Amino acid sequence: MTEVACARCGRSRADDDALTAMSWVTDVDERGSRQYCPRCARENIRGIEAKLKDEWW
Ligand SMILES: [Zn+2]
Repeated sequence: MTEVACARCGRSRADDDALTAMSWVTDVDERGSRQYCPRCARENIRGIEAKLKDEWW
């Protein structure tokens, strides 16, 4: 199993309990995928959505 760390704060998903780990977000772009912990995902989600819209339009 691959160890996953948050792309923003470096937090390890292994440090979270199972419930929190399920809330991690995967952001996929042309360079590959990145994982964000729930806290960073909340702060980042608007940027992710905006980027998706940019690519869509
Ligand atoms: Zn984080």
